[in-house]
Amino acid sequence: MDKPKIAIIGAGVSGLVAGINLKNAGYNFDIFDAADRVGGRVKTDYREGFKFDHGFQVLLTAYPAAKKYLDFDLLDLKYFKPGAKIFKNGKPQSIGDPLRDISLLIPTIISNIGSLSDKLKILKLRTHLQKQSFDSIFRKDEVTTLEYLKEFGFSDQVIHDFFKPFFTGIFLETELKTSSRKFEFVYKMFTEGYATVPKKGIQAISNQLAAKLDKSNFHFNTAIENVNNQTIRFSDGKTSTYDYVIIATEASQLITNLNNQEIEWKSVENLYFKTTSNLSPSLINLIADDQALINNFHTEHQNNQPIISVSIVKEHDFTKEQLIEHVKQELKDLCHIEVFECIKYFSIKKALPIMVSVNYMLPKSETQLKDHIFLAGDHLANGSLNAAMLNGESAAQAVIEKIENGIINIEG
Ligand SMILES: Cc1cc2nc3c(=O)[nH]c(=O)nc-3n(C[C@H](O)[C@H](O)[C@H](O)COP(=O)(O)OP(=O)(O)OC[C@H]3O[C@@H](n4cnc5c(N)ncnc54)[C@H](O)[C@@H]3O)c2cc1C
Repeated sequence: MDKPKIAIIGAGVSGLVAGINLKNAGYNFDIFDAADRVGGRVKTDYREGFKFDHGFQVLLTAYPAAKKYLDFDLLDLKYFKPGAKIFKNGKPQSIGDPLRDISLLIPTIISNIGSLSDKLKILKLRTHLQKQSFDSIFRKDEVTTLEYLKEFGFSDQVIHDFFKPFFTGIFLETELKTSSRKFEFVYKMFTEGYATVPKKGIQAISNQLAAKLDKSNFHFNTAIENVNNQTIRFSDGKTSTYDYVIIATEASQLITNLNNQEIEWKSVENLYFKTTSNLSPSLINLIADDQALINNFHTEHQNNQPIISVSIVKEHDFTKEQLIEHVKQELKDLCHIEVFECIKYFSIKKALPIMVSVNYMLPKSETQLKDHIFLAGDHLANGSLNAAMLNGESAAQAVIEKIENGIINIEG
């Protein structure tokens, strides 16, 4: 039997994991990406000795798929402490999980971020979620995260001072409207592992996955315009035919009759500044102030120079130049931090998919859209690296089963 021709559209994390699964099963394939390199949303720019991740994102070491597909030692991870520094009324206060980092015990006890009852409930939530399986989390009825936190008994104050800024930075929305399933999943992952970033930048994750594939698999700067059953049409009008196509990005952009299923996206802006202030690089910093535009920031030493990376989630009417001046002023007024030069700015319009309902992953039996077309991507489950990897795996396994058995086993 001739080897089937397989195409993967999208060399983001999901497409790369799909490729790894196909390669491990002995299949060859072409991966097409409109960009000039792998990574999709997991990219870093490198310039004059500095590195700039495309938006602040963390790899949670407890993600099951990350443990399966990544070598954490080779990624040379920087670990954040399990807590946060919160700037409130100009004063920094640290809170965190003293059971995992004893240095956070005293600051957490004496901080006025939440009452004693809130602090005990944070520990209770941790124990509660550690006992839950992913299956049970993702089978529950969904409410908003805000409703969930209130129901759990947290005070308005701790929601305002801690949960809102912390989870705004993760969900990329300011109202905590995101599904309680995603909240439980992410909180569980935070408490069972660590938030990390590779020291060489988040792109190291994509590069490590790509290194498991052959260079000949990749076709960069190659945008696909349309997929019609087995035929894919490139933006230059040429076409190519494949036995199977895995679409590891928004399928609605590529398939004519899915035009009405377009994904809506949450956006974020990310600014990098040089600073003279000496801040701990091991804590994520938050601002508990409704008026503040800045949501969170963290620092790093690069080129013997402290750098601050600031994330903005709220909408605003500033031009880029006005925004830079505004952020500088906020850092000074609210955090007593002096920054002097903005060395990089990202406006990421398609950062996370807006999803009313979320799932842990797409089972392989649900990845098949048409006879020859299969779907992957984080947007089909819960908008995370874990989901991107698992959905890539599901789509590839479905293709393999289809080739080898003619049908896809509906279990799993
Ligand atoms: C700022 C930010 C913060 C985040 N924070 C976290 C976090 O802390 N933790 C976490 O787990 N996740 C986080 N995420 C989400 C995580 O990055 C995504 O879940 C993951 O990268 C999605 O991978 P993907 O392969 O599904 O999609 P993508 O990365 O979007 O990949 C799709 C690929 O398809 C290509 N493509 C699209 N259309 C075409 C076309 N027509 N032709 C050819 N190629 C095409 C694109 O160029 C892209 O490379 C964050 C994302 C962002 C942007």
